[in-house]
Amino acid sequence: MAIRIDGKRISAEIRAEIKEETAAFARERGYLPGLAVVIVGEDPASQVYVRNKKRACEEVGFYSEVYELPEQTTQKELNALVERLNADQKIHGILVQLPLPKHLDENEVLLRIDPSKDVDAFHPLNVGKIMIGDYDFLPCTPAGVMALLERSCIDPAGKKCVVVGRSNIVGKPMAMLLLHANGTVTVCHSKTRELAAVCREADILVVAIGRADFVGADMVKEGAVVIDVGMNRRADGKLTGDVDFAAVEPIASAITPVPGGVGPMTITMLLKNTLTAAKKKNH
Ligand code: NAP
Repeated sequence: MAIRIDGKRISAEIRAEIKEETAAFARERGYLPGLAVVIVGEDPASQVYVRNKKRACEEVGFYSEVYELPEQTTQKELNALVERLNADQKIHGILVQLPLPKHLDENEVLLRIDPSKDVDAFHPLNVGKIMIGDYDFLPCTPAGVMALLERSCIDPAGKKCVVVGRSNIVGKPMAMLLLHANGTVTVCHSKTRELAAVCREADILVVAIGRADFVGADMVKEGAVVIDVGMNRRADGKLTGDVDFAAVEPIASAITPVPGGVGPMTITMLLKNTLTAAKKKNH
């Protein structure tokens, strides 16, 4: 039976460390790390994420601002807010909650965020820095996965790592981080042939596709580490991952549950990035 990698516990551990570091930072500098979160429109899931981010900031002692803009906000107004936050010395990290309403251009907004305040690490400059292995911030979800592995004493070095999913925010950076950690990495997607056979090769299998309970026992090697990034709502409203937990747990050596695995780590890594951004500034 697999060890359950407890994302809640590991996340709480890291947040306690961030809280301590924040107190030391405040004593030394006389001000707090500051995060601004911008949300446009009334998407209920996004509103929950933003509320959780604000609460997490308060928990570790950050300064935070939340901008809740109406659905009909124009590109010009949103750009102007980002420019204002870029210039605001109290703000060290800026996060624009995605997705934006359809009439707004996400790329245009993300390109405007000062890369030194880009705590989501979505700006092409930061993406490029991650590629060459010389970065300040890592995208929050893949960074959360790496922290889970590290704190569970699972070293990807020399191991066969299979990442299922190739999105810009999870799959691709995940593959890059495993590569930096000396894993031998294969990336799969919807056009991959013999997906189950490729997955069965994995010593570490990371799944980020957004299909409820998609990965079954036939896709997992005995003793593999299985990391489930998926977050899917079942018809009964319950949250479930991309991995069929009940079927895979008896085969794997370690596995993340959903909820309580990767999910809690994402905001924790956002806090870490904000602290890093603040440390790099002298205001
Ligand atoms: P996305 O942008 O929709 O990308 C999904 C990826 O999965 C694509 O690369 C797609 O392949 C691949 N895929 C879809 N169906 C597949 C199949 N049947 N076989 C193989 N590959 C398949 O999704 P995302 O933003 O990366 O998110 C993935 C999941 O992670 C979602 O459930 C999301 O809610 C969750 N998530 C969780 C967190 C967290 O904090 N825990 C954070 C972010 C995302 P193609 O490229 O070929 O289309």
